[in-house]
Amino acid sequence: MNYQKIKGTPDFLPEDTKKWQDIENKAKVVLSRYQFKEIRTPIFEQFELFARGVGETSDIVSKEMYDFVDKGKRHIALRPEGTAGVVRSFVENKLYGPEHHKPLKFYYIAPMFRYERPQKGRMRQFHQLGVEVFGSSNPATDVETMALAMDLFRTFGLDNLKLVINSLGSTESRKKYRKALIEYLEPFADELSKDSKERLHKNPLRVLDSKDRNDQQIVQGAPSILDYLDETSKAHFETVKDYLNMLGIDYTIDSNMVRGLDYYNDTIFEIMTEDPEFGSNTTVCAGGRYDGLVEEVGGPATPGFGFGAGLERLVMLLENAGYNFTEVDALDAFIVTIGEAADKEAAKLAYVLRSAGMNIEREFMNRKPAKQFKTADKLDAEYVFTLGENEVENRTVNVKKLENGKELTADLSKLYSQDKKAYLEEIKAQLK
Ligand code: ATP
Ligand code: MG
Repeated sequence: MNYQKIKGTPDFLPEDTKKWQDIENKAKVVLSRYQFKEIRTPIFEQFELFARGVGETSDIVSKEMYDFVDKGKRHIALRPEGTAGVVRSFVENKLYGPEHHKPLKFYYIAPMFRYERPQKGRMRQFHQLGVEVFGSSNPATDVETMALAMDLFRTFGLDNLKLVINSLGSTESRKKYRKALIEYLEPFADELSKDSKERLHKNPLRVLDSKDRNDQQIVQGAPSILDYLDETSKAHFETVKDYLNMLGIDYTIDSNMVRGLDYYNDTIFEIMTEDPEFGSNTTVCAGGRYDGLVEEVGGPATPGFGFGAGLERLVMLLENAGYNFTEVDALDAFIVTIGEAADKEAAKLAYVLRSAGMNIEREFMNRKPAKQFKTADKLDAEYVFTLGENEVENRTVNVKKLENGKELTADLSKLYSQDKKAYLEEIKAQLK
């Protein structure tokens, strides 16, 4: 039997996980600066939660759910995005209660699942870094969260990125806009693409971000949602722009930008790469305000703001930019062994050096010394400890710093003593 992984799912081998660990570590530093706390929710939930939370008419729910019926006849779905589960957890654990400092700020770095046609940059299991803020309708929350998103990308030196914002207004004003948009689009009904024709009455705002060329032409002349905002939404959007200006964060406004998920109101945003190689995968982060969602999922009315960033696309961007990923488990020393007695001694030396806090690899295959030195070099070891017959007999070990070729003879008994850490410092100082 030849087993293969399920279509659209990834294996991350060490050469990949090395990159992912670096990304996660650096992202967590930025998230700490903004005081977002990690939340972990199940990878599967009731199908209904997503139908409700994400919206029945969204592509995610109508076409892309990875769902199944379990042995208890429950309709389950692997989560297609992170927000619905976090909102469910917020409500179920009553995090809206007075004992919790507001706003609550959460992040997750987690796998998501969508039944899409697998292709480059589009997987059935992929990963998002997402954040959710609950309890603040202050436009400063919108700006802080967008600033966080930009900082996350900037911490990797990515700066050919564009922040695009828009406001979807309130449910009321969106209703009026929806009507005006349908009136505008109806005369073009026969010219619209099949998808857009279907959406025309169900979810006309989605026609605005159609990828079809001809649809895009038609939409050019559509009324702007920004002209339909009520006073509160208008003021909110003005403040958002004002604060972004104050922070010196460049942005463009795209009044035709809507989000694929149905739950947004007021501020929405996307971060797009201007890298020409990315074709249709240009959006690397997307989010916005969702003041009605907590109530929709059964909690008390609570404003929310969040975003999701696709990590596969971030990895692709970084690889493309020739990013130098930091090795998180860099090798401090490799132990070269010559002969049987050295093989035994190396077992002890490795154990002792590790207990002194060093990252150690050793020879196991009894290869020729030249081969072993080559390996040490390839693994980028800082030092090589060499044990031969003479060394073992004299209770010593040869220590060489690869960078400058300096070496010395160290005393095994001192390395095996209580003072090994001080002795190691001495050795390092001498080889400088
Ligand atoms: P698109 O229009 O590209 O399908 P989307 O609107 O479905 O995007 P969101 O639901 O907003 O995307 O998800 C946020 C991010 O998650 C995307 O910008 C992308 O980076 C990533 N993403 C979404 N679907 C996939 C997938 N199937 N494979 C890999 N990454 C994905
Ligand atoms: Mg999609």
